[in-house]
Amino acid sequence: MTTDQNGFEQSLDAALPMLMEMKKNLRPSPKATRTSLEKLQVILPPSFEKPEGTPSQTKRVPSPESKVTAKHSLPAAVDDGRLAKLEVLRKSILSCTKCPHLVTSRTQVVYGVGNPFSELLFVGEAPGEDEDLKGEPFVGKAGQLLTKIIGAMEYTREEIFIANVLKCRPDMPEGESGNRKPKPAEMATCLPWLREQIALIKPKVIVALGLTAVEGLLGEPRTMRDVRGKWLDYDGVPLMPTYHPAYLLRNQTLAEKRKVWEDMLLVMEKLGRPISAKQRNYFLEKA
Ligand code: SF4
Repeated sequence: MTTDQNGFEQSLDAALPMLMEMKKNLRPSPKATRTSLEKLQVILPPSFEKPEGTPSQTKRVPSPESKVTAKHSLPAAVDDGRLAKLEVLRKSILSCTKCPHLVTSRTQVVYGVGNPFSELLFVGEAPGEDEDLKGEPFVGKAGQLLTKIIGAMEYTREEIFIANVLKCRPDMPEGESGNRKPKPAEMATCLPWLREQIALIKPKVIVALGLTAVEGLLGEPRTMRDVRGKWLDYDGVPLMPTYHPAYLLRNQTLAEKRKVWEDMLLVMEKLGRPISAKQRNYFLEKA
């Protein structure tokens, strides 16, 4: 498979979930101008045309970069250059050395993962040990719970974008294991990267997972009692603070799960997502 074909296959990966979502939401059918169609003709490599008898189901081989930037991207010719800018930004973030103490302790920078054109952005505080090793946010037990929450909202992890305020794992004192919270100064140093990601991804809604993420985004400490379940504003983007999934792992009551779920219902409503009666009643029975 050629590079062009890979790119086109990735564009198909991007288009299909969006078209399915439009169909599900009964939105008007997508239309394209003649100019757009001509641009797509340029993008479609001639070699992609299948010879007669070729099965319609071709095996798709993801590129090594697809996890971060391209799997759900739009063709570069029709995305106003955002994909190219995101790739430049990704490379800058991955080679960042602004925090020398974290540069020496980290395994790698954790850029973020998901659809670079997502309407929904989840922001956590910082990579933990699992994330530092894998190079992807929210891959440990808390990450698995976040994936379940995303699924309950009828999204896939690939359809949304997940990032952290701090891109490197906070270092631990010699001989100590586990994870520590990022310090305000560390978050302030790293925040410009997230700001650039948000400016390019252009999410319609941001969910801040935990108070540290809220503090990192807003630059000042808040209490969960004051902010949870209430719409805040992040540079004009609606921001919903909720509990970090790790909190739910420590407090596995229906009442606490319901609080987070009610926050997610607000997010779905804000995004115009269809919500079934079953979804509205999750964790309600014995709460
Ligand atoms: S935490 Fe952020 S600012 Fe600090 S080195 Fe890592 S990427 Fe750079």
